[in-house]
Amino acid sequence: MNLPALLIHKDKILNNTRTVSSLLKERGLSMVGVAKGVLAHPEVVKAMVEGGADGLGDSRIDNLRRLREMGYTGKTVLLRAPAPSQADLAVRYADVSLNSEPATVQALGRAARSSGKVHKVILMVDLGDLREGVLAERALAVAERMVNEEGIILEGIGTNMACYGGVEPTRGKMEELLSVKREIEEGLGLRLPTVSGGNSANLSLVMDGAMPEGITELRIGEGVLLGQEAVQRRPIPGCFRDAFIIRAEVIETSTKPSKPWGNVGQDAFGRIPFFLDLGLRKRAILALGRQDVVPDALAPVDEGITIVGASSDHLICDVQEALRDVSVGDTLDFLPQYGAVLAAATSPFVEKVVVQ
Ligand SMILES: *Cc1c(COP(=O)(O)O)cnc(C)c1O
Repeated sequence: MNLPALLIHKDKILNNTRTVSSLLKERGLSMVGVAKGVLAHPEVVKAMVEGGADGLGDSRIDNLRRLREMGYTGKTVLLRAPAPSQADLAVRYADVSLNSEPATVQALGRAARSSGKVHKVILMVDLGDLREGVLAERALAVAERMVNEEGIILEGIGTNMACYGGVEPTRGKMEELLSVKREIEEGLGLRLPTVSGGNSANLSLVMDGAMPEGITELRIGEGVLLGQEAVQRRPIPGCFRDAFIIRAEVIETSTKPSKPWGNVGQDAFGRIPFFLDLGLRKRAILALGRQDVVPDALAPVDEGITIVGASSDHLICDVQEALRDVSVGDTLDFLPQYGAVLAAATSPFVEKVVVQ
């Protein structure tokens, strides 16, 4: 195995997808499996489909193209609003896209008409997280402009929370979304079959039995990849939280002072670092860095090991209290949070290894 490596336990992702999709189905919700956290890795995607995902979503058109090229024929959902210049590609590879700009939907309409297709649009509503979406009071007017575009079907409305502003998708926010839906349906005299309530942060509401009736789908990545909801990172019962492991190799071990000596200026990333003097400590340097992972999003699997810092190519660990001897050439394993899985999956330096 080339190192560093991202170990992917496919059977755990399959189990997690089954668990989450049946939890959602019990509550009348369908599940779009979100593949962007793993660069639409074919084996992960297969596990999601086998596990019961009712469609696959990604924020990148490139990843949706990959899904088609690997033979996936189910529903594809483009999660990030396409740029107007990408309208042709969006219509080609996505059956549905999440949108908030009428001008983009016009471009999608033109692309759909010229390729003889029909493209479905979910109108995104911003309920306070301040990323994408129209404000609730503008939703009816924007929906009206989208619904008249030939080649476009306004399939429903949706929202996305807990991403930029960290605002929680509470029951109240979901009810707000449902009232926007009713306002559009009554105002335009049509039915909106889909209410796409959010991402893995919404699993909290589902687990607590507090999701209001009328929300029809969630778009789930982290929940099935890491077996946790995304507000407090509570485990989902029946899911594995160690479907991914980052493995890297030790390239230096030594006992050194814990505090740098000399005049301390900026580090490699323009920050002035701060160090506590803990005396002499045994440390290990691993061939793993910011080009491979998000170091802050890693937890060492071995007890007694802590990450003390990282640069582009080096991860520095304190191994003074490690329960085993750590030597050059040894490997250490880390449990990655979402940001580290995403970085490792998209880094050309990290080998992706599917564990059967
Ligand atoms: C990434 C993304 C998701 C999936 O988020 P998870 O927290 O990984 O479930 C859902 N919706 C949108 C719009 C996204 O960009």
